[in-house]
Amino acid sequence: MNRLVSELAALPGIGEKSAGRLADHLIRMPKERVRSLTEAITDARENVHFCRECFTLTDSDMCPVCSDENRDHSVIMVVEDTRDMQAYEKTGRYTGVYHVLQGAMSPMLGIGPNDIRIKELLARLDANGDGISEVIIAMNSSVEGEATAMYLSKLIKPLGIKVTRIASGVPVGGYLENTDEITLLRALDGRFEL
Ligand code: ZN
Repeated sequence: MNRLVSELAALPGIGEKSAGRLADHLIRMPKERVRSLTEAITDARENVHFCRECFTLTDSDMCPVCSDENRDHSVIMVVEDTRDMQAYEKTGRYTGVYHVLQGAMSPMLGIGPNDIRIKELLARLDANGDGISEVIIAMNSSVEGEATAMYLSKLIKPLGIKVTRIASGVPVGGYLENTDEITLLRALDGRFEL
């Protein structure tokens, strides 16, 4: 029981108290349902991996957006994580594709350019040559997000590719996934060239 509580408490957003409550609930659940839950966790962990093109989390080799020929593959929106991508997907108005960095640069936490998927983005731009018309930087407006956006624009602009940043309709320190759809679209429409 102690082991279960400490494993649960190690998950994000779950404190010692909630972990205790969850553990208590789990041991009262029918064995069949516990088995189905553990199977779902193992299955997700084994089968979900990074899309080979955009590095979002997906259960296929290429995610549904990258493999959709109707999307505009010349416009790439750079986001921090899969949840940010999902937030923009929910608006249903963005027709380009994405690149998911899987994090942001943070000197405080010792996260440098090599710890997130920047190399992979550059390789993608390189491989597509003139095929890319715009890179939209949609990092969160946190200190880390801003630092990453600056770093990226310095790298990408010399390649002759238009680099834009979404307008800061997204509240400072606010995370994209928590921002409502209208604000997201306003930020996208109001993007400016870096
Ligand atoms: Zn993809």
